[in-house]
Amino acid sequence: MKLISSIKELKNDLALERLENKSIGFVPTMGALHEGHISLVKRCISENDICVVSIFVNPTQFNDKNDLKTYPRTPGKDYALLTSAGCRYVFAPSENEMYPEPDTRNFDFGYITQVMEGAHRPGHFNGVAQIVSKLFEAVNPDKAYFGEKDFQQIAVIRAMVKQLNFPVNVIACPILREPDGLAMSSRNVRLTPVNRQKAPLIARTLKESVNFASNKSVKEITNYVINTLNDEPSLRVEYFEIVDKDTLEPVTNWAQTTHPVGCIAVYCGDVRLIDNITYKN
Ligand code: AMP
Repeated sequence: MKLISSIKELKNDLALERLENKSIGFVPTMGALHEGHISLVKRCISENDICVVSIFVNPTQFNDKNDLKTYPRTPGKDYALLTSAGCRYVFAPSENEMYPEPDTRNFDFGYITQVMEGAHRPGHFNGVAQIVSKLFEAVNPDKAYFGEKDFQQIAVIRAMVKQLNFPVNVIACPILREPDGLAMSSRNVRLTPVNRQKAPLIARTLKESVNFASNKSVKEITNYVINTLNDEPSLRVEYFEIVDKDTLEPVTNWAQTTHPVGCIAVYCGDVRLIDNITYKN
């Protein structure tokens, strides 16, 4: 595995790989890697000749400066995990390498960035589009892998790829969970031991709500999820919305879409967790 921190060196190396007709897969991350990330890396390795993983805690996507400051950073463990997974290149640039000048670009992807995460984390998706577009330009991958844990992010990346004409195939990968159901997240290590015990209630409640959905209205299911979680003193629901998978428009009636997805953000103590679940296929 080769560790690279300069865009120029990365482009040079990947140009040589392309001369040999190698296909290039890419997994962007912010590090503090866990098995969820590694599932994307393994899929990337299985579907491409070369796997590139980036590790960069992107300041422009953090609307909460304390979240940026406390975001876990574990470079040594990350490199060990990526080496044993079989990753070929790790791109871990400095902030100055990615942003030699402030990025003043303002993207407009319309409705999909105005709801849920977009409404509660102002500027977040603009920062995501800034960094992912820069990374796509540096790596120029054939395929890029994103986790459905960040459900709305995938819709935003697809819109960005269309708007900027990136020749990249965006691949959505399923959520990996801890044995107790909690969606794996780099932020889970910030949960206190007591809150770590409470956090699986989020996934459990979502799963139960799917079992109830066949004879309940969307409104009833929404209230059930919000009330069950808010009844637990360690949890505070920021939003729970059942939306159409592609348009992210709110679903008010199950018949309205073939693919409703319930998306949630919950504070567990001071740690903000997100998760989502599909109601039908
Ligand atoms: P992050 O480092 O949190 O920005 O995540 C990097 C990529 O890994 C994103 O595409 C995430 O959606 C994905 N990811 C994070 N957690 C999980 C998980 N539990 N299962 C699957 N993918 C994940």
